[in-house]
Amino acid sequence: MKSSLTLVLVVFINTTVSFSQTALLTNIEDLSSSFTLDMRYATENNFLEEVLYDCGTCLLLPETAAALNQANLYFNSMGYRIKIWDCYRPVDVQVKMFAKVPNPMYVADPKEGSIHNRGGAVDLTLETLDGIELDMGTDHDHFGREAHIDNFDLPEAVLNNRDILETGMKQYGFQTIQSEWWHFNHTSASGKPVMNEPLSCE
Ligand SMILES: [Zn+2]
Repeated sequence: MKSSLTLVLVVFINTTVSFSQTALLTNIEDLSSSFTLDMRYATENNFLEEVLYDCGTCLLLPETAAALNQANLYFNSMGYRIKIWDCYRPVDVQVKMFAKVPNPMYVADPKEGSIHNRGGAVDLTLETLDGIELDMGTDHDHFGREAHIDNFDLPEAVLNNRDILETGMKQYGFQTIQSEWWHFNHTSASGKPVMNEPLSCE
């Protein structure tokens, strides 16, 4: 009896150790095929000029993914579509980014963890249904005043496009940050653990 109990415990502990947190994340493409994906960190087209992910998969907490899908449907009804630049990001990648830009205004300190490390943040912009990106004033990961959401010293068309994006995202539980117009945190990420598993690329 004692040995079988020990066996059960060993199996239980092994199962716990091998448990994958990222397996609980939703691949946005399993939810909808109507997003455009331009996962910059799976390419060299990013501020580190280095391929940081094994594939361009967008993984998010299930509630974040569901909310993003709702937001995309809302934008679709206005003639736009969400173009995604980043979703879940392993902590090891956060460490590399912080080493390059050690400024918490733009890159979260890996000791604290970014909401991206929790699967609850997404970097994105809008494009028309014909695939023309809206002018938001800067590209992704422009670390400067032009990218701040409280910078109103920008052309009227840019301010209007940013307003369309922010207004739509907020309706579905996403929150802005001051320094990056493209970054949105979802309320469902609150209290969720940071993760450091590589992106699953089956
Ligand atoms: Zn971000």
